[in-house]
Amino acid sequence: MLYVVLLILLLMIGFLINFIIKQNNKIRELQNTVSKLNHSFEELDEQAKLIVKTDLELNKAQEELDKRINGLDALQKISRMISTTFDENEIYNRLNSQLLTELGFEKYLIFIFDNSNKLQPYVEIGFSKQETKDILTKIEGSSYFLPSLKERQVFSSVNMTPEDSKNNLPDIFPIKHYVIAAIFSQKDLLGITFAGNRSDAFPVTEGDQELISIFANQIGQTIENARLFEQVYRSSQMLELKVQERTKQLASAFEEVQAISKHKSEFISAVSHELRTPLTSIKGYASILMLGKAGDIPDSVKERLEKINKHSDNLVKLINDLLDIARIEAGTTELKFVKTELAPILDNVHDLLTPQIKEKNIQFFTHLAPKTPQVSIDPNQVERILINLAGNAIKFTPENGTIRIDVQFDQEKIIISVSDTGIGIKKEDLPKLFNEFYRVDNEINQNVKGSGLGLTLAKKIVEAHKGKIWGTSKPHEGSTFYFTLPLEKR
Ligand code: ADP
Repeated sequence: MLYVVLLILLLMIGFLINFIIKQNNKIRELQNTVSKLNHSFEELDEQAKLIVKTDLELNKAQEELDKRINGLDALQKISRMISTTFDENEIYNRLNSQLLTELGFEKYLIFIFDNSNKLQPYVEIGFSKQETKDILTKIEGSSYFLPSLKERQVFSSVNMTPEDSKNNLPDIFPIKHYVIAAIFSQKDLLGITFAGNRSDAFPVTEGDQELISIFANQIGQTIENARLFEQVYRSSQMLELKVQERTKQLASAFEEVQAISKHKSEFISAVSHELRTPLTSIKGYASILMLGKAGDIPDSVKERLEKINKHSDNLVKLINDLLDIARIEAGTTELKFVKTELAPILDNVHDLLTPQIKEKNIQFFTHLAPKTPQVSIDPNQVERILINLAGNAIKFTPENGTIRIDVQFDQEKIIISVSDTGIGIKKEDLPKLFNEFYRVDNEINQNVKGSGLGLTLAKKIVEAHKGKIWGTSKPHEGSTFYFTLPLEKR
């Protein structure tokens, strides 16, 4: 019995031990699980912290981005506002506006160098007059600030160097958060921009620094444009004044020339008149003597009288030409304009010159373009032009040469040319031919008399018809003289 009880007891103890071992194992497993859970919980906690941190950073970045976008937006508005004027003072007026605070700062100062290279305040936002004055005094007193601004172009409270602190830079602008940027033109320092915030809630960022630099650049460009415009405007005004002055001078010089020319024409008219009367007497007396009305005269005297007569004729022609030129110049010769066919005039000229043409065995052609219209002219005066031109052509063309008169026309004018195969004219003489008394020094002129007035008279008559006259030539080949007669209605 005792054995049985002992056995049962042993069995129970064995069972109990087994149970305890099992429970122990379970407890260890549970402890393992708890420690794992603890670990996971810690990891989750870490991650949660990271998420919160990232969220905060993201929010900050978003804020910074918003600030930059707002700043850039404001900068664009300001740029547009100041770039639509070329008046420098108006630029500063426009800058002195609350729009500037949209760039992200509450205080602004803009100083610009004046003509005597002294800084002057043009924009003052958030500063009293006294504060601005004190800042200026400090800038002028600092031997460090301006030279290093020229070098670095931008300072800010986020990138202060030990050198800046050593030179008391933060004392100049008594604001905790600030950006200072140089205003440059293409090559010169024009001034300084200062932007600042007193509150710690708005510290300066890298983005602010960039924004104020761009802002300062924009101001520099706009000021430079305005100054260039002012320069151009001023020089154009000066030019206009000069042109006006010169025009006045020219007008009065022209009046003077006209008065002198009128005086000259009157003088020539008077002298020519005075000369013509005794000349007519001389010619008359010479004729009487030549005709033997005053008694017989020996042949040698007759010969001399003939010379007197011929020279008197030349003189009469010269005086008549001079008188005509003077009269046309003075406007006292009234041209009698009539609608005229040109063919009869050409025929007349041909008839008149036939003796000389025949004498030199010259071939003479006239050609009128078909349907040449009638033209309003003074026919006698146009005939004189042609006689002068064709007479010259005969004079300066050797025997057996050719002379042509051609008439062409276009919408606006008739163009008449007289060409010959004569001795020609050197290029340098061509422009002088129409001057009074100008004669080229050549063999023919040395032997044949002439006044040097024929072409002058022709030019005066052509100009009185509102036409033009000119000549072209090749020495030893021939010359062509052209003149035009306008077709417009008179
Ligand atoms: P003039 O014939 O009395 O000398 P003009 O005024 O008619 O005066 O001409 C001026 C000068 O122009 C002439 O002396 C001559 O040297 C030159 N000239 C004019 N027509 C011709 C021509 N057809 N050929 C060559 N020379 C000419």
